[in-house]
Amino acid sequence: MNAKTYFEPQTAVPVYDECDVLVVGGGSAGHSAAVAAARAGCRNVILMERYGYCGGDVTGGYVLLIPSLSFHEKTYVRGIQEEWFTRLSKIPGAVRGPSADLAGSTDPQLVAEWGDVGGATHIPPARVCHGFMLDPTQLKIEMDVMLYELRNSIRVMYHSLGVKPIMENNVCRGVVFESKEGRRAILAKVVIDATGDADLCRLSGAPTSSAIDDECRCSSTALVYRIGGFSKRAYNEWREKHPEESKRLFDAVAEIHGFRSAIIAGPTDDVSWVNNWQPKRDCSKITDQTATEMGTRLKLRSILEQYRSACPEVFANAFLYDIAPQLGTRGSHRIVGEYVIGANDWAFPKEHEDCIAWHCTVDTLNDNAPIEIPYRSILPQKVENLLAPGRHISADRIAIDNVNLIPQCVGTGQAAGVAAAVAVAEGTGTHAVNVARVQDILAGEQDVPLPRNSHTDPSYTECLVAHEYGLYTAAAKRARESHDAAGAYRHWTLSGGSGDATKTDAE
Ligand SMILES: Cc1cc2nc3c(=O)[nH]c(=O)nc-3n(C[C@H](O)[C@H](O)[C@H](O)COP(=O)(O)OP(=O)(O)OC[C@H]3O[C@@H](n4cnc5c(N)ncnc54)[C@H](O)[C@@H]3O)c2cc1C
Repeated sequence: MNAKTYFEPQTAVPVYDECDVLVVGGGSAGHSAAVAAARAGCRNVILMERYGYCGGDVTGGYVLLIPSLSFHEKTYVRGIQEEWFTRLSKIPGAVRGPSADLAGSTDPQLVAEWGDVGGATHIPPARVCHGFMLDPTQLKIEMDVMLYELRNSIRVMYHSLGVKPIMENNVCRGVVFESKEGRRAILAKVVIDATGDADLCRLSGAPTSSAIDDECRCSSTALVYRIGGFSKRAYNEWREKHPEESKRLFDAVAEIHGFRSAIIAGPTDDVSWVNNWQPKRDCSKITDQTATEMGTRLKLRSILEQYRSACPEVFANAFLYDIAPQLGTRGSHRIVGEYVIGANDWAFPKEHEDCIAWHCTVDTLNDNAPIEIPYRSILPQKVENLLAPGRHISADRIAIDNVNLIPQCVGTGQAAGVAAAVAVAEGTGTHAVNVARVQDILAGEQDVPLPRNSHTDPSYTECLVAHEYGLYTAAAKRARESHDAAGAYRHWTLSGGSGDATKTDAE
């Protein structure tokens, strides 16, 4: 950065609007927050988003896979996340995955059919796990439909970038934003920072962290693209029959790109998305963002040619279908909240009295066993009336890899929306919010099962007890020992985490 400084003259900022709950960022967390706040009774919600659509990484970044919603036969992640599935199921080609009632089935045919979607679990016998793949364009439309249904309560502001929280001492009173109309302000009783990069929290005086382990997924960016004109099923069969050629092709593509990538099925067989991991890049730095965008695009023609020449029987007619309109961001800055989720939260599952969501984790870790996400992990320290659900949740440098997943973002977003609505209705701040009331609304009215809540069927807890939470059962131990620990989640299996999240994050 240049060493010179320009001093901006102080200007009066016109107030554009006022509301009870202002949500900044319309990704999976922010969209869910706005919808949940309105459904919890708040009639004066504003949803502000810098782009012209909702969904963030999911719709704009083409992250099409919603994994691990269930553990054995119970679906622990429901609410708005399950609503995506039921709504998109009514639209041809919009979603593919086993429904919740198939969760836990050990039928080998079902496991074979659905293993690549929700993830068949690693601890034998393999079981179907509820999860799904979706079409990003259809979700974009459906997210608008959901907002339109609540148009009497939610005002949507697309193409508006939140740039600064309005702070009165330690209390957040609104947000300054930029748009084609200029610099304006929105005043609000509660602000939900759902920008994914803690954009507002970072400027509010609340502590944040960008510490990340270089081996984690969250230290990598992506620019997802899609390939059409070939059958993913035929490609899978080819890989099984030709493991060595398949490995050579994978390595050749990695060599051209300069990073690892993988073709992953979408809801239909003829278009697949290419996930990629561009290591040690920070999605909040201009140079890394630009390198991710340009570096990926400049190689795409050669990549397609590589697939065609190495495997013409599958890729002869393959073509570049499209490139995601926005950079894929797994993590950057996040809050250091009133509770920091640490790697040991998986090793020793904890009960949280302020639990707002169950989050089932990837099967390689602990056989999809859910952990309890506390309200305090979306509650920034030191500031009032500001909440931070989504991928910038409070977690240490290793744990963040596993709590940035979409189901957690939807779940904490939904909870943040309800918490904001309750704070406004009862006239409390966000630290003193009536958490029991928030839990009752989530579990009793918004289809979110929660532990020890009278609205949640006891069979959820019974299932956890019966299966010893997955992690330290003998079967889980065997699975961990036999599992290829070189995968993306190797830290969990290798180190088991730091134990002291705040200390690790301080670097
Ligand atoms: C390539 C890739 C693959 C992944 N694979 C998976 C997977 O298979 N399964 C899974 O569950 N998860 C996966 N993830 C992680 C997951 O997609 C994200 O963590 C999750 O979608 C984040 O949701 P979010 O709402 O917290 O943030 P985002 O989706 O980033 O949403 C933030 C929203 O805020 C908007 N915004 C940002 N700043 C501002 C501002 N200042 N003012 C106004 N608006 C703003 C953005 O435009 C965006 O719409 C993957 C991520 C990537 C990048």
